[in-house]
Amino acid sequence: MACRRCPRLAAYTREVAAVKRRAYLAETYWGRPVPSFGPGDARLLILGLAPGAHGANRTGRAFTGDRSGAFLYPVLYKTGFASQPESLSRDDGLTLIDARIASAVRCAPPDNKPTPDEIRNCRSWLERELRLLTRVKVIVALGKIAFDDYLAIERARGKLTTEVTPKFAHGAEYRLREDGPLLICSYHPSQQNTSTGRLTEPMFRAVFTRAREYLGRDR
Ligand code: SF4
Repeated sequence: MACRRCPRLAAYTREVAAVKRRAYLAETYWGRPVPSFGPGDARLLILGLAPGAHGANRTGRAFTGDRSGAFLYPVLYKTGFASQPESLSRDDGLTLIDARIASAVRCAPPDNKPTPDEIRNCRSWLERELRLLTRVKVIVALGKIAFDDYLAIERARGKLTTEVTPKFAHGAEYRLREDGPLLICSYHPSQQNTSTGRLTEPMFRAVFTRAREYLGRDR
């Protein structure tokens, strides 16, 4: 995927890929937009914020090779959405089961903070993807930016019909329209959240257990 709509992010991802972190000097960084990961007929869509500079921007696969992924994948494995708990590289054999991971912003931003313009720029990619993912029944939004981004897409499509104004809170869930997916909010598994105890493993597992219950055990 070649996209250069965000000059700041294009420059940053290239720079990180050239300079590298000391521990990864021998590796070739991905250094460009990171595509979504998982089957196109998935019923669970996990919506993250953006690739980590030395995680997905290095490995080329969502939540792969960083601490956020080390927190996410064991939970996906325990709840039956991933084939293994480790996610180290693009060729480590991991597959997602009935789940797909996309992100609000596909290029790594400095300090994990995309600007509002960059989020808007990337929204059309997500919008297009959502139109193609016709089997999605549950969306887990990881963090408020992903949550707001999804609401913006629903609003623009004129689909936001709920009487209640959706508010982000960990574990909150919404049906924005009768025929739409269940939207579940979760704190993002960033190191900032997990190392401070704002997001614990049981809290995170409860979100995916709820998704699993909603989808049922069988496809
Ligand atoms: S963040 Fe999205 S819109 Fe911006 S350059 Fe990357 S892929 Fe393109």
